[in-house]
Amino acid sequence: MDSGNFLFIPKIKKPPVIHRAEFGCLKKAYALNVTQGCSFSCVYCYARGYAIAPPKGIVYFYRNLPELIQKEIKHLPIGTTIIFNTASDCFQTHPQVLEITYRVMNILLRRGFYISFLTKGIVPESFKDLFCRYKSQIYATINVVSLEKKYCNLFEPGAPIGEERLKNAKRLLEWGINVRARLDPLIPFFSDTKENIDFILLELKKIGISEIIVNYLHLRPRIIEQLNQELPLTIAKVIFSCFPSNWQIVGSKTLAKLIPISLRKRTYTYIEQKAKSLGLKVTICRCKNPDLNLSKTCLSHLPLTLKKRLQPTLFGKEVSL
Ligand code: SF4
Repeated sequence: MDSGNFLFIPKIKKPPVIHRAEFGCLKKAYALNVTQGCSFSCVYCYARGYAIAPPKGIVYFYRNLPELIQKEIKHLPIGTTIIFNTASDCFQTHPQVLEITYRVMNILLRRGFYISFLTKGIVPESFKDLFCRYKSQIYATINVVSLEKKYCNLFEPGAPIGEERLKNAKRLLEWGINVRARLDPLIPFFSDTKENIDFILLELKKIGISEIIVNYLHLRPRIIEQLNQELPLTIAKVIFSCFPSNWQIVGSKTLAKLIPISLRKRTYTYIEQKAKSLGLKVTICRCKNPDLNLSKTCLSHLPLTLKKRLQPTLFGKEVSL
């Protein structure tokens, strides 16, 4: 891990901090990020291409987040699900990031909100009491595609290696948390091999995971730049050779290149068969495979009927925020 090379800088976040996510099925959810930027530095990360993303090597953490959350949740109905990490990871290995994450989750859980997070990080032992007490309000998803150290260091150089993420998932399961695994992105020739899929599915099954979400890498212009800059040229070339030359619209307005449908179908079918033989449930990410006409979304498991923000009232009449 080289997250030690990152500079973590405190920042005062301007409200609102809870926002409606913009992509795919996340549009149904309220979301928040604890940091701007992410030290896990995945080479395929689309969030690194956002206009507001800080330069590589810098992460801003929002030190006034707990205070903002206290105010903003007054306008959300109890029982709303708040999704963490649409453009960062709240379990980056930095003490102040973890402290803010703890305080924010503590506020939300105590007030009766549900939380959902996708992470490559490690949930510290200090979260145990909180998580055990509110386990029915927590939905965790662990992102892990390969347990090979070399693979993790190449594609996700700042994140804990796959083995560590599995241990993290096992611990969360022991705390009674609902944990799924996300195999995303599968990278052609590197993690979509039968050998890798067989191994990772078996290891997930062994620790008690019962549901997985799967998706292939897709390319956006900025991701192509990152792969060119951060991977050895031969590896980048092998990956690019699997993609067509044309661009597609994914989500409402995102321009992306998708792996040819025939290869995606073949791999997903293989994963579904293998998972079925192990008793694992599989969801293929619908948003990133718009041409497959899938019915289930990755968030189908959440209590997520989007509840409207409550408008504050003045003398019984609603007023705008
Ligand atoms: S963990 Fe997520 S947000 Fe962080 S760099 Fe990787 S893909 Fe991006």
